[in-house]
Amino acid sequence: MKKIKIETKGFEKEAVLYDDLAPITVKTLLDALPIKGYVKRWGDEIYFDANLGVNVKENSKQVVQLGDIAYWISGRAICIFFGKTPISEADKIIAASEVNVIGKVLGSLDCFRDMEEGEEILLTTPVSALHCPECDSTNIEWVLPQTWSKYRCKDCGYVGAFIVEK
Ligand SMILES: [Zn+2]
Repeated sequence: MKKIKIETKGFEKEAVLYDDLAPITVKTLLDALPIKGYVKRWGDEIYFDANLGVNVKENSKQVVQLGDIAYWISGRAICIFFGKTPISEADKIIAASEVNVIGKVLGSLDCFRDMEEGEEILLTTPVSALHCPECDSTNIEWVLPQTWSKYRCKDCGYVGAFIVEK
């Protein structure tokens, strides 16, 4: 499952993307990264312009879940739902119209509540770390700075060219 990073002036969050449920929208989004936007608020939803050029409905819903990230085809915007919209009823979170649900924000959503109109938001590819193939430690160093293809794990002593990036 693919991940993206969401950055604002106040916080950083990660989100998973549903490349199985919305493959075209997710691939188009990933190819367009980094995406910078200026948020608008609609209740406890933020959205920002991002013309991905996607016109196909995938995992299309008007009733969404907490933390959902979606692409709104008719509004050409990316939306993040962290509570009720102005048209929500009872416990349902209802979008303005159908949106392609493409992923979910991981962890607490409280930080989104402080976001203001016009605040900058940035979607990027998360920086991957090098992991030891033996013990999964990230305490990795190059054996020789000029030998870029050889690594050593400071925790278990593994030395080799093979390293796991994730
Ligand atoms: Zn190791």
